[in-house]
Amino acid sequence: MSGALKDRPVVIVGAGVAGLTSAIALGRRGARVTVLERADAIREVGAGLQLSPNGMRVLDALGLSRPIAQASLRSHAVALHDATGAPVARLDLIRHRPQDEFRLVHRARLIEVLAAAARDAGARIELNRAVTTPPEAPLVIGADGLRSVIRSHLNGREVPFFTHQVAWRAVIADADADAVPEARIFMGPGRHLVSYPLPGGLRNLVAVQERHEWQDEGWAIPDDPGNLRATFSAFGGPVPGWLSAVNEVHVWGLFRHEVARRWQDGRHALVGDAAHPTLPFMAQGAVMAIEDAWSLAACLDASADQAVALDRYQAMRAPRVTRIVAAANANARNYHLTGTRRILAHAALRAAQRVAPGQLLSRFDWLYDHDPTLELR
Ligand SMILES: Cc1cc2nc3c(=O)[nH]c(=O)nc-3n(C[C@H](O)[C@H](O)[C@H](O)COP(=O)(O)OP(=O)(O)OC[C@H]3O[C@@H](n4cnc5c(N)ncnc54)[C@H](O)[C@@H]3O)c2cc1C
Repeated sequence: MSGALKDRPVVIVGAGVAGLTSAIALGRRGARVTVLERADAIREVGAGLQLSPNGMRVLDALGLSRPIAQASLRSHAVALHDATGAPVARLDLIRHRPQDEFRLVHRARLIEVLAAAARDAGARIELNRAVTTPPEAPLVIGADGLRSVIRSHLNGREVPFFTHQVAWRAVIADADADAVPEARIFMGPGRHLVSYPLPGGLRNLVAVQERHEWQDEGWAIPDDPGNLRATFSAFGGPVPGWLSAVNEVHVWGLFRHEVARRWQDGRHALVGDAAHPTLPFMAQGAVMAIEDAWSLAACLDASADQAVALDRYQAMRAPRVTRIVAAANANARNYHLTGTRRILAHAALRAAQRVAPGQLLSRFDWLYDHDPTLELR
């Protein structure tokens, strides 16, 4: 640490994963952090999140290994199935990446851990503070998510486009709570379903369907569980049992947003979804936010010149998140193949599983090997 952040006032807009992790990283380096959150409480919302090793390295470096371990489950594998439930391939995380941790956590539990650590690091979190224009401060961090006020200030009006896919999310009581924790993906024509267990005997479900009718983008739009069950009625394996346990479900439209062109102007900077909302198909939304937070604090700490530091931050982060967002876009297509292409793709995955199972995972070394905490050393 250079001391460049010592006693510098920073205002962060948004107390989500990006805002709170930034508050911890900046607070630990001596900044005087205030977080403005529009909600009236840091309350239980959302469903499960997957944390991959590239994000875990940051959480470890922030001293959060223990509370995160207590709040989450270590995932052993990613298992791919076809719609009948038959296995297609299994990415064995323990065998092929034994040194790394992939963790499964409820978003609300992660937010609780981060909020406690942010307060410990000296940050003041002010609730009921909906920001409509950028606050007056020498440094303002826009961690205000999908419809970021700070992003609009930097980039003007932008229009995302509907991908013609909708996603449902639900949390159910887990009948298999004693089973080895792993993420399971069931792939059918034009739709797929992802499920994994969460601590406390819960199970997270995310189900995606290609659809032409418009659906709004938002985390809190309720739907009739019957619509989810009808859409996945042809699926086999454990899926019918899981879906019959759904009492409450939310649905959201999946939109493609460009990575922000301008992340900063020397006084304002973006982190997390405010800079780069992503489709959920690489499970990297929260992890990219965590990586951003570390890199932003490291850049600001490494240079007393704020404009130079913020310029370096964008240069460091934009290529990586652009690659991750593109990989998530490509996965959407791979999961939903139909007809002959689907048969061929599943046969190729089954063959790779027999011949070189480690290779299915090593395609993502560029993603999971990255260590943001080493970048500016
Ligand atoms: C309610 C909610 C539920 C979610 N559920 C899931 C889920 O189930 N699964 C999943 O994979 N991802 C979920 N996400 C998204 C995921 O958490 C994010 O993609 C990821 O963690 C990146 O976080 P972020 O901090 O950049 O953005 P966000 O998590 O969206 O956080 C942004 C924060 O800024 C606040 N904010 C926004 N605008 C303003 C403003 N003008 N003034 C003050 N505060 C403002 C918001 O209230 C929010 O707390 C959810 C996000 C939210 C907000």
